[in-house]
Amino acid sequence: MIRIGLIGSGFIGKAHALAYRTAPAVFELPADIRLEMLADVDAATAASAAERLGFARSTGDWRALVEDPDVDVVDITTPNHLHEEMALTAIAAGKHVYCEKPLAPSVEGARRMTAAAEAAGVKTLVGFNYLKNPITTLAREIIESGEIGEVFGYRGTHFEDYMLDPETLVNAWRLDPAAGDGVSGDLGSHAISMARYLVGDIVAVSADRHTITTERPAGEGATMRRIDVADALRATVRFAAGARGTLEASWMAPGRKHTITAEVWGSKGALTFDFERLNELQLYRTGQQRGREGFTTILAGPAHPDFAAFVPAPGHQLSFNDLKTIEVRDLVVGLSTPSAGCWPDFREAMEVQRVVDACIVSDRARAWVDLGDI
Ligand code: NAD
Repeated sequence: MIRIGLIGSGFIGKAHALAYRTAPAVFELPADIRLEMLADVDAATAASAAERLGFARSTGDWRALVEDPDVDVVDITTPNHLHEEMALTAIAAGKHVYCEKPLAPSVEGARRMTAAAEAAGVKTLVGFNYLKNPITTLAREIIESGEIGEVFGYRGTHFEDYMLDPETLVNAWRLDPAAGDGVSGDLGSHAISMARYLVGDIVAVSADRHTITTERPAGEGATMRRIDVADALRATVRFAAGARGTLEASWMAPGRKHTITAEVWGSKGALTFDFERLNELQLYRTGQQRGREGFTTILAGPAHPDFAAFVPAPGHQLSFNDLKTIEVRDLVVGLSTPSAGCWPDFREAMEVQRVVDACIVSDRARAWVDLGDI
């Protein structure tokens, strides 16, 4: 039995709660899940979310949840700047920690969290759920098998447009520098984790950050306040294995709602996907008949990892929340296997954060930055 303590019940907290309820029905899990306690900003918010999402108990004090003897895993789905204190307190109480991305607003915090977790011997998992898509797993399998040859090029993006409105209030936590460098950690961390998953370690970056809307209202009818975090991030990157690539993230990409793309070029072909079509992978092989060359569309189906557990028929489409269900399966399996951990863990998320921070240093210095210096 794994007893969950969930902190936060917003956008992604709800997705975690749904995944806990769905995972035992979709997968044969090695342990039962008990939704033990939910914490939020105050008792009333927590009580109403707990009732809605199926948690046995609730509290308006996250420390009470962390210290509760009947909580085994502390699941942190609060704004970025709260992750570190919550995680360190949970680790000190001997709890396993499942935390949303980005792990921390900067690499210093991510390093402290990783060191504490590893010293305490607790298991950790970070919510880079896009790595759990069967199509993403398939892409990595294709690359690792050598099917597209030696990889020399990569293009990755994560575009959405939820900050396009200049009236978005400055007190939205994503615009607060305390939560990190805006889109760099918010969507940039997803793009970096995807690049690392598919092509490996990044060893150097040259980046350009762009604050497009430099002032936003500080509250309803209030004066304007200066914005110092990035709305867009563009980086040229070098991978340890020799490939070169570009990464882009923007939360002001008009019309783009979930444009998480990867394009991988190799000596024998290429693959690409776009999460606005979450169940499709495009594969190109060199050596095709002249005049018939082109990408083949592969629709996700039961022949691909994890898909069959949801639905036995190909092309019947998984969605965003299903990726969280796969992530929760990995949490339960990782916690139930003495010799294994969960993945991506705090160390991997810290490596992602190193790349985010390298981009910020590069932009400020207007120079290439080696990851070894971060
Ligand atoms: P949100 O604002 O919708 O929800 C945050 C929740 O935390 C709310 O329920 C809020 O009341 C609660 N909270 C805030 N302060 C608290 C405190 N002191 N004690 C207890 N609860 C508190 O935010 P969100 O969009 O769900 O983002 C939360 C985290 O999840 C961020 O780190 C974000 O980057 C991450 N996220 C990840 C994904 C993904 O795809 N993996 C998607 C969205 C958000």
